[in-house]
Amino acid sequence: SQVPPIILNNGVEMPQLGFGVWQVPDDEAETAVATALEAGYRSIDTAAIYGNEEGTGKAIAASGLPREELFVTTKLWNDDQGYDATLRAFETSLAKLGLEYVDLYLIHWPLPSQDRYVDTYKAFEKLHADGLIRAIGVSNFLPEHLDRLIAETSVVPAVNQIELHPHLQQRAVREYHAGQGIATEAWSPLGQGKGLLEVPAIVAIARKHDRTPAQVVLRWHIQLGNVVIPKSVTPSRIKENIDVFDFSLDDEDLAAISALNEDRRLGPDPATFGKD
Ligand code: NAD
Repeated sequence: SQVPPIILNNGVEMPQLGFGVWQVPDDEAETAVATALEAGYRSIDTAAIYGNEEGTGKAIAASGLPREELFVTTKLWNDDQGYDATLRAFETSLAKLGLEYVDLYLIHWPLPSQDRYVDTYKAFEKLHADGLIRAIGVSNFLPEHLDRLIAETSVVPAVNQIELHPHLQQRAVREYHAGQGIATEAWSPLGQGKGLLEVPAIVAIARKHDRTPAQVVLRWHIQLGNVVIPKSVTPSRIKENIDVFDFSLDDEDLAAISALNEDRRLGPDPATFGKD
């Protein structure tokens, strides 16, 4: 495939660009994932809570691609945190996907007020040791949550998947990850396609390179070293979003995008999400 890999801290290779399927209904996921696989995507990002692990798995099976060429990520939902519940939830996800192993399993949210992410992660370590998961990681963890995991468990997370786009650039968290050998994976890399793709600075850079604003934003992530998982169900956009490996942004472009940071989240704050 045309997407270069990054090497995770345990030596596993992960494509730097994958296909996200949040908000894609199960019966549409099969078609969307099939379109993505045809376009050259080899990494798929789903989650138990997305309700589309079955559709995703059907597309994978129907593709006829060798399993080892694919990189499949799924995530443990909040209600299933805790050691035993995690083992059960993983089994359910694996069955829905129709797979023998997943490449990356993530704790979807830390839920610090429930204080179960350390036990949850210990179940991840067991599943990893049993060969059912190639790399284990987390999502939406703040550095303080990662510090605690690293102190109380033995496998440093391979990945932290966080909200990251030009309006929320996460500089401090990216630096923390780099210091710990944790890969930064950007969710909502296109800012959910809302105002971001109309920002004049991004539109101007797109014109300059004869590319689309979405391609410019994805290219910015790639040059920063982020893993990205843009979502679309539109075939032309699915193709457009992977076609970002044959041009480069220059220093002036990168500086103009850096200037767009507003520390503005589209999603919940991990420090408080899940508090009841
Ligand atoms: P995104 O930033 O990928 O934006 C997707 C939207 O942008 C599309 O629905 C469409 O409206 C638009 N779009 C896509 N391609 C376009 C193009 N080429 N031109 C114009 N518009 C385009 O948003 P997302 O789906 O929120 O995030 C991507 C993935 O990240 C998700 O599918 C999911 O896999 C993951 N995610 C994870 C979490 C988490 O908590 N871990 C949270 C949200 C999303």
